[in-house]
Amino acid sequence: MSDETLRKSVRDYSAGLINWDILQAQIARAGMPITRDTFTKLSVNPPGTTYFSNNSGGKWWLTDENWCALEAAGWVVRWHRDDITVYTQPDENGRVLGALARYATRYGLSEEDAMREWEKVVALDPYSNGCDCCGRPHDFYRDSLYD
Ligand SMILES: [Zn+2]
Repeated sequence: MSDETLRKSVRDYSAGLINWDILQAQIARAGMPITRDTFTKLSVNPPGTTYFSNNSGGKWWLTDENWCALEAAGWVVRWHRDDITVYTQPDENGRVLGALARYATRYGLSEEDAMREWEKVVALDPYSNGCDCCGRPHDFYRDSLYD
């Protein structure tokens, strides 16, 4: 895909002529990572919902498989091993306190649809209260605060 083709697609997306899934696939085909940096470079601002995992009750509620399944479903997982902003150095397996990641962002869906998709992919209750002292294990933020 040429730069010009991608630029035209960005214009089409901004004009509402193609949806985010199509543009995201074209960005990926052009070899660009699906990250905030890329969106800034291309001047696109896709809607995003960021999931934040809390180890309520002293355990992580998402398994490694859950994170991988989210990634496969189109979520941009912020793996600890790739996260230069994480304040605790990941161990040699890429884990911090045993977890591979804490954040994932889904672009191109409303917050409601993103939460519905998350619920289907990981088969957990997004509204779970967790334990009394630690609070909710799952939080969702509109826009990608952590990307
Ligand atoms: Zn607790």
